[in-house]
Amino acid sequence: MSTLIRGGTVVTGSGETVLPAGAVVVRDGRIADVLDHWDMTLSFAGEVIDASGCVVMPGLINVHTHGVTPGPLFPSAAPALPEERWMGNLDRHLLSGTTTVLNLCGFASMDEVREADRRHSVHVRGATTHLPHCVQAAAMADGHGLTAVSRELSVEQMLDDGAVAIGELGGGQTLGGGGQDLVYIPAAIHKASGIRITIDQARRIKEAVLGRFIDVAAFNVNALAEAAKEAGLTEAFTATQLAKLVTDSVMPSFVPAIEGIREGIRAASTFGVPAIVHSASATAKVLRQMMLELDGSGATVIAAHANHPSHTPDEARELAVLGRKMGWPAEASVFDLLHRRHTVKTREHWDILLREPELISVIGTDYGHDGDHDELISAIQDIAVRGHRPLAGAVAMATSAPADLIPGIAPGRGRLEAGRMADVVVASADELRDVRLVLVDGVCVVRDGKLTPKAHR
Ligand SMILES: [Zn+2]
Repeated sequence: MSTLIRGGTVVTGSGETVLPAGAVVVRDGRIADVLDHWDMTLSFAGEVIDASGCVVMPGLINVHTHGVTPGPLFPSAAPALPEERWMGNLDRHLLSGTTTVLNLCGFASMDEVREADRRHSVHVRGATTHLPHCVQAAAMADGHGLTAVSRELSVEQMLDDGAVAIGELGGGQTLGGGGQDLVYIPAAIHKASGIRITIDQARRIKEAVLGRFIDVAAFNVNALAEAAKEAGLTEAFTATQLAKLVTDSVMPSFVPAIEGIREGIRAASTFGVPAIVHSASATAKVLRQMMLELDGSGATVIAAHANHPSHTPDEARELAVLGRKMGWPAEASVFDLLHRRHTVKTREHWDILLREPELISVIGTDYGHDGDHDELISAIQDIAVRGHRPLAGAVAMATSAPADLIPGIAPGRGRLEAGRMADVVVASADELRDVRLVLVDGVCVVRDGKLTPKAHR
């Protein structure tokens, strides 16, 4: 089976090459040729796609996803999503040009990862956090998705079985982050008093008790009184009761989660695989410690969502600058900061980190509210339009850069180059989110912006 895609702007993913009216020839699942133009007098035995007005690029590789397998969800090992949800999440990735995802819900087994990989045309890769403290942290925060099998597995077994990275080490749910504000603290308050509070009220109360860096020494009695009054809780709780409730909700998982980060980074160094660590205000301290501990070890540790909004913009930049100096690559997550803005309402961190050369190596999505995050491809467009990188460089951040950084994630992919596997995306040049065509292994899985029957297997 052969396909010729001609007339579009071919961005090869190398970070440099752009062919303004190039052509890509696909044969038997592989890229057969990449040409700077197609001689229109030649005939072609196969399907011809006219890509004028479009950008042609490699299938995108998303290094930071959740909820794409039937395994436990998030670093807190919440119950797995039902099948239609994780398949639906994969559909959304594919419809926006992502053909490879790394599942950072680290408690999925490789059987669960392989099931997703087999059922859906998106290549699904696995990571692991099967480490004693990570399991403990998950069990304290949630853990309802843990099975006997997932508790028994080890990082070593998972790597032997095909996991390509260690991560995500730490998460908002285990580290007193957004999951606490959204779910656990309001639930504890509701259980004790029958009163419902909002995510913003919960965050204010939490920060009055534990500060932004999750530290019992940060307790601020005046701030707590104000936050309690604003949330209508002064009748129901004394300050001491409220402080205890917050501490009891946040701290049991926090301590093992921090230890789990150390454990996972050391394991990455031992086994020679990349680790992906949750970067946030709550982990800034342990990340700095581990940068020093690992200095010169050659281990690859990737700071996930270096643009996390729990950092102030200055803190995010400072930590990323230190990371660059210490050889830690950083990932920027688009969350929903460009279009949807349910969870992240500022783009300040994103712009500050991206406008400086080489602070950010790769981009991902992480998981938006109910999986409804902005598309990785819209992050590429934004980076190019804002002038943070030329288009070729922006595309590389979601193609060749992740393929190079995490060697197991997409071997033989990530670039439009003769001999590589044919994962190819054709998207409108004016609006990259308008994805017209996607090939995976040379097979058409998205046509005219819709899934084809070949998208599911
Ligand atoms: Zn995270």
